[in-house]
Amino acid sequence: MLSTMQDEQLSLATLLRYAATVHAESTVSTWTGDAVRTQTYAEIGQDAARLANALRKMGIGYGDRVATFMWNNNEHMIVYAAVPAMGAVLHALNIRLFPEQLVFVANHAEDQVVIVDATLLPLFSQYLPRLTTVRHVIIVDGDASALTAPEGVQVHSYTELLDAEADTFDFPVVDERAAAGMCYTSGTTGDPKGVVYSHRSNWLHASQVCASNGMGFTDADTVLAIVPLFHANAWGIPYAAMMSGANLLMPERFLQPEPLLEMMAAVRPSFAAAVPTIWGGVLARLAEQPQDISHLRTCVVGGAAVPPSMMRAFEEHHGVKLLHAWGMTETSPLGSVAHAPAASTGERAWTYRYTQGQFPAGVQARLIGDDGDVAPNDGKSMGELEVRGPWITGSYYSPTGDVPDADKFHDGWLRTGDVGTISADGYLTLVDRSKDVIKSGGEWISSVDLENAVIAHSAVAEAAVIGIADPKWDERPLVAVVLAEGATAHPEELREFLTAQFAKWQLPEYWTFIAEVPKTSVGKFDKKRLRAQHAQGELNVIELT
Ligand code: AMP
Repeated sequence: MLSTMQDEQLSLATLLRYAATVHAESTVSTWTGDAVRTQTYAEIGQDAARLANALRKMGIGYGDRVATFMWNNNEHMIVYAAVPAMGAVLHALNIRLFPEQLVFVANHAEDQVVIVDATLLPLFSQYLPRLTTVRHVIIVDGDASALTAPEGVQVHSYTELLDAEADTFDFPVVDERAAAGMCYTSGTTGDPKGVVYSHRSNWLHASQVCASNGMGFTDADTVLAIVPLFHANAWGIPYAAMMSGANLLMPERFLQPEPLLEMMAAVRPSFAAAVPTIWGGVLARLAEQPQDISHLRTCVVGGAAVPPSMMRAFEEHHGVKLLHAWGMTETSPLGSVAHAPAASTGERAWTYRYTQGQFPAGVQARLIGDDGDVAPNDGKSMGELEVRGPWITGSYYSPTGDVPDADKFHDGWLRTGDVGTISADGYLTLVDRSKDVIKSGGEWISSVDLENAVIAHSAVAEAAVIGIADPKWDERPLVAVVLAEGATAHPEELREFLTAQFAKWQLPEYWTFIAEVPKTSVGKFDKKRLRAQHAQGELNVIELT
């Protein structure tokens, strides 16, 4: 028996219409260094229509890829709104990718148009001659003469294009399964892999972001989106903001702790989202230059494990709640969010909040143990996390129709490569990436647990742990420490600090002090580079006896 419900498509055009009318007065603002420039959602809707008209005149139609090479700003949000709504496919390029990877993903996705911030032109112009499918470049906040284009590529000024167009467009309601956007994984090994989101997956994901067990956006919020729009859709914030009427604050290129804090003092956002390395920098800056940031009701942190000491410091010293979440480019990205159950309080609540969180109804999860069987959700049994659901990718994008990386999927589940436990009440605790976990004498040592413990020491600003070859134990942990400004510490003292939490055999004997942990294009610890630095003898390793 079929239902009597209307088969209305979950198309992003309807979301754009909704935001521009029902939440017409909510705003999107971009920080300019000392002030904000602001548009209402009604104005964003008008500019989205102008852009869609201009793109249509360039011949962009259903399924054509329109890329961005941009900071988080109003114009980027307008592209987010316009491109899927007109039936084309948004591809936000990661401006920090290595050149080879950037050229690979733009050609692989067959991007036809690239919209570029003028401040990024010096970088983009190096890639452009190698982008084989691009026919149009649109420059935001700069004129077309700023770029010498290869033959066959037309260059336009964004402002001039939009000024010439009408502020209405008949956005079509497309099949909800059609492609709306794509992101490539920022993996540090092999070619990046393409994930294609549908209108339906983006819509359902946005509802989950808005839900109280997601990020709980309301129209009273001002959401500071520090996570880039090219990193897993900025964690779904743009469409969730359109759905809830939350105001958006975009930091543009002002991403260092000092300007971020200046921006916060001026605009007083209620919500913010960024990877732990950003929050670590903000915390260090606040220690030097105190500032009231209690206007932030919540900061969502994910992309890498958040040290419990960082969560405590934000809450206890600054009255700000860090909300830990787990996800991947492949999961749109919201996979799990660590709200404590309503009934738990005090220290018990913290133990829930330190985890990677609870899966929402839309995400099914299971662990596959070393024996290949499903491990029980008992909070103890470990395995590789596999997930499935309506906003989880079922394959990687292939322009040729072959099935790339089929080994990343297992009976319709996505293999995440993350290893951990799940409790009976559905909370995920990640132990490590399967490739980062350290196997010492046949036993596992979690690099993440060691990092979290070392960083809790007051002399430590950052700590990254990798496994290094050991003739007796196969592998042993090497701890790379970045000391806090002006601090000193001896490895003996740091190891002593760990004795309360770790078994004797887990305590690391190899230590090195470095100026900075190398980071990936999305600001995570780049352990591959750290391993290479060690292999090339660039690290001065101290061995404790
Ligand atoms: P990306 O696709 O770049 O977002 O990377 C996804 C990967 O980041 C996951 O598979 C995890 O290994 C890691 N990750 C994301 N969130 C967390 C978290 N809260 N704790 C630990 N690792 C995380």
